[in-house]
Amino acid sequence: MPIRLTVPLNFCPACGARLGRARVDGRDRPWCEGCGYVAFHTALVWAGALITDDEGRVLLQQLKIGRRAGNWALPGGLLEADETTEDAARREIEEETGLQVRLTGLLGVFSRPGDPFVGVVYLGEVTGGELRPDSGARFLAPTEVPWEGPFDHWAVEAVLRFWQRRMTGGSG
Ligand SMILES: [Zn+2]
Repeated sequence: MPIRLTVPLNFCPACGARLGRARVDGRDRPWCEGCGYVAFHTALVWAGALITDDEGRVLLQQLKIGRRAGNWALPGGLLEADETTEDAARREIEEETGLQVRLTGLLGVFSRPGDPFVGVVYLGEVTGGELRPDSGARFLAPTEVPWEGPFDHWAVEAVLRFWQRRMTGGSG
């Protein structure tokens, strides 16, 4: 999952005035005296999938750019406001890996206090496309999975553990 939204907001994004503080919905929040804008610290929705193949492998992506390079991620990305989470997962996976996928179910929703992302993770399988060699994504057998990370987000490890339990017949 990408950026962390930790930059403090000092100016009103609606009118440019310096923000004050006001108590809104039970919390002190950045507030604009000029236009009434309130900055809610809402979370972003990330949508992706645990994609597996017929050989019992899982699709993971090793990031290649920036300070997150080397981290292992699930394919996916941020939801745009004009699409469903399913659309976002399919779109981001194709953009990132070149693979077209079919979603077969919802694996789970992952959130934690303080984390600016809510992860919506589906189960899925490949229906078309070609895995782009430059994407950093590849199918890994259980013996190849980097079980100790480094992971790009805590939910990646949680999803991999779910997959591992399911493969070994445990109660997911
Ligand atoms: Zn304002």
